[in-house]
Amino acid sequence: MVQLAVRTTKTWRECWFCIREIIELSTWDFGPGNFIPGQENWLGIGCLSHILIPMEDKTTLGEAESLGFNLPYLSEDTKEELLEAHQLLKSDGPMDRRVWPHDPSEMFTIKSYKKLSNLGNHPNLFTKLWKPHIPTKVSIFLWKMLHNALPVDLNIQACHMLMASKCTCCANPNLESINHLFYYSDLATHVWNHFMALTNHLPISSVLWEIWKARCSRKYDDDHKLPMLHAQGKRIILKVRYWCLRLSKFFEVKSLSNTGTDTIATLLGIHVNSPPQKPPTLVYWTRPPDGTLVMNTDAAAKEGLTTGGGILRDHQGVHIANFFCFYGDGTNNSAECKAILDGRNLCNILRHKDIWIHSYSTLAISWCTKQAKPPWNLMVWIKRIWDLLETLNVGFLHIYRQGNKDADHLASLGLKHLTDGTANINSDKVLKPILSGDTLNLPNIRFRI
Ligand SMILES: [Zn+2]
Repeated sequence: MVQLAVRTTKTWRECWFCIREIIELSTWDFGPGNFIPGQENWLGIGCLSHILIPMEDKTTLGEAESLGFNLPYLSEDTKEELLEAHQLLKSDGPMDRRVWPHDPSEMFTIKSYKKLSNLGNHPNLFTKLWKPHIPTKVSIFLWKMLHNALPVDLNIQACHMLMASKCTCCANPNLESINHLFYYSDLATHVWNHFMALTNHLPISSVLWEIWKARCSRKYDDDHKLPMLHAQGKRIILKVRYWCLRLSKFFEVKSLSNTGTDTIATLLGIHVNSPPQKPPTLVYWTRPPDGTLVMNTDAAAKEGLTTGGGILRDHQGVHIANFFCFYGDGTNNSAECKAILDGRNLCNILRHKDIWIHSYSTLAISWCTKQAKPPWNLMVWIKRIWDLLETLNVGFLHIYRQGNKDADHLASLGLKHLTDGTANINSDKVLKPILSGDTLNLPNIRFRI
């Protein structure tokens, strides 16, 4: 049992509200497996409870494994998959250790959590709700709303308290549930319609908060003071728009917004105040040390189909080999890993031992260099890369996209032809000038916004 200390900082307090999410994002370096597999993200792809294992099942991972995952609710295929995953991931250590895979130290840090939140690759309450410009009471209200914990009539009834339900925000009586009150009630419809007509990027938190305040006043204040529903709707719209205007004055713009956001801001009467543009930087193709070769790899994905490409050169930029591969269904991360593996295999076949791999994917590099624990579904490729590490002398380097244009082009050829292949550097009109430019050390321009 963990408890917050009295003097805990605000940020830590805010993290506390997301503790379930943090647990879900952390994984395990496990030996005996003395934890409940349905409630933990031991596979690195999320908790299984919703999909496979009932929450009430208290069998530990170790026990489940000793039974060969022979649990009544698992299909034969799932049993095999879980057994295979268990064998791959199990460590020889005598203890289970909770691991935070998003920081090289494997320890939880606020910095890594915020960085992860900014990647936007999972639904994150922390970034959406707990912002300095949102008053804490509003954050707590939204949090309760998302967890279906607001005391609307139907939720009170669900606690076995007998009461009649009557929504106060409709002209005709209705049952008051969270969905009804905030999305379908007459008051909510009136307010949402106004903002939807204006923009599809809505000031959601303030609208919800104002609807809740209006509902509470309609429910508990004296009847004679209450405005008509329509007038109350108008009042909410005015307040929300006023709130947007006031907040925009304090909002420090750090990056250039796109034209869509600018249009919405103008429609809401907000003066668009863009920050000065950062000067562009020059990015060069990174040469490997003398006597070694460099394999630039990259991946491409479109409509769920993925490809990879790579090009092998010496330290002077002289072309040795290139490839592109079509991987079919997958994610960008899986394609990045497969492209690295294919690049490494090619070096192995050509009997080149001293290799640098240059990739744009920070994640793929951190998995290949064992700085972060790879997700289970990519383990099969990463393990092969690790095996090859033992036979080759390999270094990894993260580079900017602009210095990796040739590999990027090769990956896009895979998408174009939907097959494996290689490009002819003498006739490919895109690849030829990039290669010449890299050999002559011509810079590429990287614009920063
Ligand atoms: Zn209603």
